Amino acid sequence: PVVTRFAPSPTGFLHIGGARTALFNWLYAKAQGGTFLLRIEDTDRARSTEAAIDAILAGLRWLGLDWDGDEVFQFARADRHAAIAHELIARGHAYRCYMTQEEIAAQREAAQAAKQPLRIRSPWRDGDCGEAAPGTPYVVRLRAPREGATTIDDRVQGSVTVQNAELDDLVLLRSDGTPTYMLAVVVDDHDMGVTHVIRGDDHLNNAFRQLPIYRAMGWPEPVYAHIPLIHGSDGAKLSKRHGAVGIEAYRDELGILPEALDNYLLRLGWGHGDEEKISRAQAVEWFDLAAVGKSPSRFDLKKLENLNGKYIRDADDARLAELVAPRVPGSDVALLTKAMPALKARAANLNELADGAGFLFAARPLPMEDAAAALVAADGATLLAHAHAALDALDGWDTEQLEAAVRRVAEEAGVKLGQVAQPLRAALTGRKTSPGIFDVLALLGREESLARIADRAA
Ligand code: GLU
Repeated sequence: PVVTRFAPSPTGFLHIGGARTALFNWLYAKAQGGTFLLRIEDTDRARSTEAAIDAILAGLRWLGLDWDGDEVFQFARADRHAAIAHELIARGHAYRCYMTQEEIAAQREAAQAAKQPLRIRSPWRDGDCGEAAPGTPYVVRLRAPREGATTIDDRVQGSVTVQNAELDDLVLLRSDGTPTYMLAVVVDDHDMGVTHVIRGDDHLNNAFRQLPIYRAMGWPEPVYAHIPLIHGSDGAKLSKRHGAVGIEAYRDELGILPEALDNYLLRLGWGHGDEEKISRAQAVEWFDLAAVGKSPSRFDLKKLENLNGKYIRDADDARLAELVAPRVPGSDVALLTKAMPALKARAANLNELADGAGFLFAARPLPMEDAAAALVAADGATLLAHAHAALDALDGWDTEQLEAAVRRVAEEAGVKLGQVAQPLRAALTGRKTSPGIFDVLALLGREESLARIADRAA
């Protein structure tokens, strides 16, 4: 059975690229009837924070990427990692290296002088240095193969080969006894039963350092799938200067729905024909690694917002009202829910929804945009007075009655309907654009509508 995992380092919020990695792992597990696990790689004690862990968990939950079982914390497993390093020594696949800082510096300088990458060649590898004095600090290094080549049949990158001579004997345990990242990742993935390692292609080089650890232990090797990183509109790796990179910003500041962000991230690097709107169920049915592209995709906020608008149109009105309410001062969820069908027709994000809903809860006299004020000037104020009289005379307040009354005002004044509707819109909403005018009247109700019209009528 397939086991995937998401393994974030909790040194910051959940990054948009991390969210996509998590999504691909989640989908692949679901598509294969497998399991999706979460591991918090909190071994960098100086940079890992509780707040970052909370943000990552909250971000994943918000996106609906629930993980199976409890999250695994990497730092808590340090003893297990160290035990494997010692087991590798016992099996002859690793060795204690007592090289001094001076010896390492000398190799670094030699490599620089020769314009070669640094590949540590430890004299301790072949044990011809005699015995170190007791208490001498050492690191544990993997005795990595030097002959031949290592080939990874990556599900996304294809077949990638590295000459073993290009690799050095990586450190498994530091001189203070703490495990390195390379060792911890392999031991954890093995112990968690991870069968498929799906992650950013910035980790492809690491795979060539991690595989020899599996081989030395005789553990089954995982399938690798290194997915291209997300780039910004200018083709450079996505970073803060392109805009928001944290998931919270999309939720809180940009007002994006989680299902829209999921769908957008899914299509960044994976596709199913020309399908744009793909439900979770369809994604689970269709997702596979073979259709993940090899080249980086570009993040485009406009496209995300366009998709978000479609999800807003489909979303439940009461849910949208709950989401929008905190963004509208003085609002009330019941009225927002009632107004939602009219409000959501054009909004691309929750902020636009909130902005469009503001008039419902604004206090009189209503602030007016200049363009709206211009609509009331000239004959507008007189027509508003006519409209006020006609509406005030109504014995009910449903949209049909409202429409009939406003049409009559226009006919009697010998003007087009729009010439009455536009000043009405301005008086009722303070805006030049709004939901349909009869909906606006119905939503505001008789008393508030008449008062707003009276405020602007001449
Ligand atoms: N913790 C690593 C990161 O945040 C991921 C390691 C992995 O997926 O193997 O980039």
